Amino acid sequence: MTTSEKKKVATYPTAEEIMAGEMEGLDKYREALKNWNTCYKGNVEKRKLAIPLLARWMLVEAFGTEAACEYSISKSYMYAFNRDTKTLFIDAYNLSIISTLHEAGHAIFGSSELLACRFSTQLFRDVFPKSYAKLEWKGHMLKKKGKKTC
Ligand SMILES: [Zn+2]
Repeated sequence: MTTSEKKKVATYPTAEEIMAGEMEGLDKYREALKNWNTCYKGNVEKRKLAIPLLARWMLVEAFGTEAACEYSISKSYMYAFNRDTKTLFIDAYNLSIISTLHEAGHAIFGSSELLACRFSTQLFRDVFPKSYAKLEWKGHMLKKKGKKTC
């Protein structure tokens, strides 16, 4: 375990740490992501609007249909997962598959940034290899190549 993993405050892992280990047990999440993709391929805007549904599908995989899991558009416009209410908050102004998967990763694995980053990145890479190839690391995040970060 590295020093950053021991810290309680949210310190993000490096790209190397995120990709250092292959996650196991991702099959059902990979299938859910593939199915979602098959349903919402094509129209970019429709696909973006279906992102909350992707969150819902991931939560159902994690907790089962009996679990009280909901998604909601956050008033503070931040991606987050609230463990007490099992609510995944989606930034309506920045609909992102990877960010949604990241919060689903927190839902499944808890507060570990390493596991949440690994979950979202590896799922995205496996299901969208062409899109993944167009991304580059900026710290712990993947951004479109050439896109400025502020
Ligand atoms: Zn996180």
